[in-house]
Amino acid sequence: MSYQFSEEFALQQDREDQLADYRNHFIFPVVKDRPALYFTGNSLGLQAVKTKQYLLNELEDWARYGVEGHTEARKPWLPYHEFFTKAFSHIAGALPSEVVAMNGLTTNLHLLMVSFFRPAGKRTKILCEAKAFPSDQYALKSQLRFHKLDPAANLIEIKPDPQTELINEEDIYRAIEEHGDELALSMIGGVNYYTGQLFDIKGITEAVHKVGALAGWDLAHAAGNVPLQLHDWGVDFAAWCGYKYLNSGPGGVSGVFIHERHHNQKDIPRFEGWWGHDKASRFSMPDEFNPIPTAEAWQLSNAPVFSMTPLLASLEIFEEAGMEALRQKSLKLTGYLEYIIHEVNTETGAGLKILTPREEERRGCQISLVVPGVGKSVFEKISKEGVIADWREPDVIRMAPVPLYNSFKDIYDFGQILKKALA
Ligand SMILES: *Cc1c(COP(=O)(O)O)cnc(C)c1O
Repeated sequence: MSYQFSEEFALQQDREDQLADYRNHFIFPVVKDRPALYFTGNSLGLQAVKTKQYLLNELEDWARYGVEGHTEARKPWLPYHEFFTKAFSHIAGALPSEVVAMNGLTTNLHLLMVSFFRPAGKRTKILCEAKAFPSDQYALKSQLRFHKLDPAANLIEIKPDPQTELINEEDIYRAIEEHGDELALSMIGGVNYYTGQLFDIKGITEAVHKVGALAGWDLAHAAGNVPLQLHDWGVDFAAWCGYKYLNSGPGGVSGVFIHERHHNQKDIPRFEGWWGHDKASRFSMPDEFNPIPTAEAWQLSNAPVFSMTPLLASLEIFEEAGMEALRQKSLKLTGYLEYIIHEVNTETGAGLKILTPREEERRGCQISLVVPGVGKSVFEKISKEGVIADWREPDVIRMAPVPLYNSFKDIYDFGQILKKALA
């Protein structure tokens, strides 16, 4: 696609964009009396306009029905988590039986590792990316220690290339081969939170299986951002946040995928609670746990309705827009941001650098921009002008144009502001 750094071009793209109207379904923070140029949907997605009414409905139903709301509420609370199944199955590329909405992301990673990190004999190692999101590192190391294993010897961290800061996938494949029958689990972020690099989830999963290990994925930065086919790719398990690309609001509920080959395994180690128990006999409270034959077996508690409602409002919009159309727009929008950064760089000679891979199939919508030397001051200047982006030490500005609510005009305006900030 050929781009132009002009307002006219950007506005024309917005007129031709079939998804453009979804922008009006979200609320933008206001900076200097104008809607912000919001590029942090990878960190906290925006509030859908209808979220407030959805929450008010739940408050009303609670007031009207009290405990009877479990069955009488407009959206009954007893099966509340089931309202997420369809949209999550589309976002994850999964069977409906393979997904469930519950807990927070790190909590879910732990619960999943209880089931799928089962070190035995010499097969004790976990493979991950170096500089993974800190919470993932803490989770992996504490899981190892929980099994009386030394993280220094059992956590294999694939380091990025010091030149590009990206991870060479060949290094991942080499490590899988090298550790072979000592590898128990791989747990990698599908899209790296720092560089925006998207990994070949299918290829890596296959390589991990070939040496007899299991493949789990942290999809915090992938869900709702890039197309996923977790079922067909044979992924063992995955989890993602609700509050990043999926707009569930701060601390909102996470999503989980567990491949159907792991369902209905009576001897699988698992931390269990009543919400994972067979629905028909749950309330007769039998002594023996009888798991639901789906990913729902991993649920512990009944659904936290108020923190799930905003996610419901957003997922309805995802269902309407469709991941395929969102990805098509996303490729154009992120391509435009990349182009604008190159143009500004040519005009200003600022030496701007993009960490994120150039190839479309190796990234989602995020661009990680390095402004050598003066990054922090440039970040502060553009922030004052109404750009909401994200600063990461030592020198990265992370930006995510989100196809659901960002426009080409947003990116053109950002280009003008960046140019001024560098002048
Ligand atoms: C955002 C993010 C988290 C956050 O974890 P919570 O448990 O939701 O607080 C963890 N891991 C990765 C890779 C993330 O991007």
